[in-house]
Amino acid sequence: MPAETLPAKSPFYTPEHLAFRDAMRRFVAGEISPHADAWDEAETFPVELYRKAAEIGLLGLGFPESHGGNDGDLFMTIIAAQELARCGAGGVLASLLSHTIGCPPIVNVGSEALKQRVLPPVLRGEKISALGITEPSGGSDVANLKTTARRDGDHYVVKGSKMFITSGMRADFYTVAVRTGGQGPGGVSLLLIEKGTPGFTQTPLKKMGWWCSDTAALYFDNCRVPMENLIGKENQGFKAIMKNFNRERIFLAAGANGFARVCLDEALAWAREREMFGGRLIDQQVTRHKLADMAMRVEATQAMLELLAWRVEQGDTPVGEICLLKNQATQTMAYCASESVQMHGGAGFMRGVKVERIYREVKVNAIGGGAEEVMRDLAARQFGFYA
Ligand SMILES: Cc1cc2nc3c(=O)[nH]c(=O)nc-3n(C[C@H](O)[C@H](O)[C@H](O)COP(=O)(O)OP(=O)(O)OC[C@H]3O[C@@H](n4cnc5c(N)ncnc54)[C@H](O)[C@@H]3O)c2cc1C
Repeated sequence: MPAETLPAKSPFYTPEHLAFRDAMRRFVAGEISPHADAWDEAETFPVELYRKAAEIGLLGLGFPESHGGNDGDLFMTIIAAQELARCGAGGVLASLLSHTIGCPPIVNVGSEALKQRVLPPVLRGEKISALGITEPSGGSDVANLKTTARRDGDHYVVKGSKMFITSGMRADFYTVAVRTGGQGPGGVSLLLIEKGTPGFTQTPLKKMGWWCSDTAALYFDNCRVPMENLIGKENQGFKAIMKNFNRERIFLAAGANGFARVCLDEALAWAREREMFGGRLIDQQVTRHKLADMAMRVEATQAMLELLAWRVEQGDTPVGEICLLKNQATQTMAYCASESVQMHGGAGFMRGVKVERIYREVKVNAIGGGAEEVMRDLAARQFGFYA
């Protein structure tokens, strides 16, 4: 199956990538897949998983060696996302790797003191990092966020709330977008807010999918945050948030296509096994065509993903193309999840079957990290598609 052979046949993977892929595959098969159903039903997973993930270099991927990372390139990130997807539970990826959205602003624009305080314990799996951008009043229109941070002596006083935040209950460090200036993108800053800050409370949220992922609403009731927790310069937070999105979208696209491939693999295995009308499901030409259509989309998405990752590794910033890649990947996931559940029949509707869960997890991918409509708008602007 392509799932087994694709990385080896791609020109982008070196022996180091393939060795990491093998380590990831063993890690997922040994430490995650056997527990994925139980964790999802329990709506959590053990915090020890962070330390184990750190030990195989997963948490440090793409972070500077100087602060406990291992400088892995984007192809390592793609491998990590797609091997993790094999467990069939997107909630594990979301929470286990919430630092990949929480920490980059600290790496890119944070002070050395903040880097030293946050990065090493997070990359060792001892502390958890989260990103708080979205608010109850909206997530797509980031420039219009309403949580305020008012200067008072050597502190900011933060008032407002955040919504749908991954690792929202159990994170130690929250990278939070606040309004320190006037309206619009020019008034936005990023603050590091720590668990235990007086006035900071959280409420857990129940979801359609990603059950084992920790998702919460955050409330800041006049929280006093020291000025040295400002990440980057005051009123310069919007650019740092936008920079975050490119890598996040490549990771989301890699994961979505990984889940699409799981749907294809599961459909193939099922079709070979399921007996009907004196033969097996795969004996029907319609079934083989469905599998071919799924494979066509998965392979096309993978080609786009790897080419764009290569361009980013060359120093290019193909923002519009990355937006379209995210849509391409989430639509491939949607198509494959729907077809695979259909081919499984009633079994595809049952809890504990990978494709049932993946089907429920399509929408969060099409909304989070930039909704499909926002992706199209941004791509059209980047490409100059206006009158
Ligand atoms: C499980 C989960 C985990 C999340 N984790 C995090 C996290 O860790 N940190 C964080 O900050 N956020 C997180 N989010 C929030 C996520 O990023 C937002 O849900 C997303 O950005 C959309 O924002 P919104 O939900 O406020 O929808 P809105 O911004 O209100 O948009 C609603 C809908 O309107 C449509 N729409 C939006 N803009 C346009 C447009 N320009 N043109 C046409 N239609 C449009 C889209 O269909 C969109 O889905 C998470 C969300 C979920 C569900």
